[in-house]
Amino acid sequence: MIATNLKIRDGVLEFAGYSTPALAKKYGTPLYLMDEQRIRDNCRMYQTAMNEFFGEHALTLYASKAASFKRIYEIVGSEGLGIDVVSSGEIHTAVKACFPMEKAFFHGNNKTDADIAFAMESGVGYFVVDNVEELYAIEHIAERKGIVQRCLLRVTPGIDPHTYDAVATGKVDSKFGVAIGTGQAEEFYNYAAALPHLQLEGLHCHVGSMVFDEDVYERAAQIMLEFIALLHQKYGFETKILDLGGGYGVRYRESEGVVDIPYRISALADFMKDLAAKLEVPFPAVMLEPGRSIVADAGLTMYTVGSVKRIKGYKNYVSVDGGMTDNPRYALYKSNYTVFAPERMEAPPTLHCDVVGRCCESDDIIQPDVWLPELRRGDLLAVATTGAYNYAMASHYNRIPNASIIMLSPKGTSIAVKRETLDQMIKNDV
Ligand SMILES: *Cc1c(COP(=O)(O)O)cnc(C)c1O
Repeated sequence: MIATNLKIRDGVLEFAGYSTPALAKKYGTPLYLMDEQRIRDNCRMYQTAMNEFFGEHALTLYASKAASFKRIYEIVGSEGLGIDVVSSGEIHTAVKACFPMEKAFFHGNNKTDADIAFAMESGVGYFVVDNVEELYAIEHIAERKGIVQRCLLRVTPGIDPHTYDAVATGKVDSKFGVAIGTGQAEEFYNYAAALPHLQLEGLHCHVGSMVFDEDVYERAAQIMLEFIALLHQKYGFETKILDLGGGYGVRYRESEGVVDIPYRISALADFMKDLAAKLEVPFPAVMLEPGRSIVADAGLTMYTVGSVKRIKGYKNYVSVDGGMTDNPRYALYKSNYTVFAPERMEAPPTLHCDVVGRCCESDDIIQPDVWLPELRRGDLLAVATTGAYNYAMASHYNRIPNASIIMLSPKGTSIAVKRETLDQMIKNDV
């Protein structure tokens, strides 16, 4: 199976120890299922490796844009992780979940003045400053509030992580951050260092998402450490925090590779310690910001089949009761997924089809070219590895309400996010 929390028992798909057809029956479809223990295990895998290889000051930040709702912040908070937030909405959700906001890092390439003020009022620990205009906006608002705001500067190391273009962010021409290669990052530092209501704690970079290549983080870390050495020698600046961003890839299909994350962290730590010693820079507290690899394999989506359309001599379509409204990733990135018929896991896969959603859009595809057993209206389908960037990217297109999220744990099942009602859909219409 594609993940260890998926099993087959008596021909039926089990997820996190629960029969998935039974859950679909109990809670209705479309339905997001999330495996709490898997989220916790992923958090521990990261934080254990970070502490073992980078020391006690290293911290894992969960990039909460991957899946943002109250229960997630409670879980990662209780595991001792910090978080990334990118909007007032994520900050509000984390605050309502009683997350310790001093461990929150506020990202984004266009924080509005209202966002900046709200983040300060919410006690957000660190701002990751994206650009010079934002630097001055933070300075002015912090001055007005009579506080000194801790910050990191987001810089771009100019690395191509060999991932899908839309998720590569560390290149020189990215909309995120300020480039080191053009000399602008040094200017950025000088502006920041001169501001009295800003306390500069360190630097941040993020090379991209779905990174599988071996040496991407080493290449980024090398450029960052060299930049740290330059700031140290030229200005006497001590970088206390070096945040290397997120992005380790996950497996969406059996045929794809698996990243051995603890091993990668240990190799990265060895590389960085050697280089820091050579460059004679004090070793910073290192942070990583995984989103996808914390929650992706903790998610599974359940659908009910509505129709099986056979276009003779062409292709077959299986339509489900969800689609790009709950999972837009195929429409956006042509993402791979593994689809199961959870009630008949051992039946022969004789139906070659595209699994499509119910939205009025031809690209509303969950996954093309899948082989499934014969299906008919009322049968269930399950899509694996949907914990990241599915609910978080859900929309109301065609006025389809958002699906609910059920949290599964060894102690039982519970609703983490209720299914949206039709009345909730129109509550702001006047
Ligand atoms: C998206 C993002 C992450 C998380 O990326 P994943 O691929 O989900 O691990 C981390 N940091 C920043 C700045 C991001 O934009």
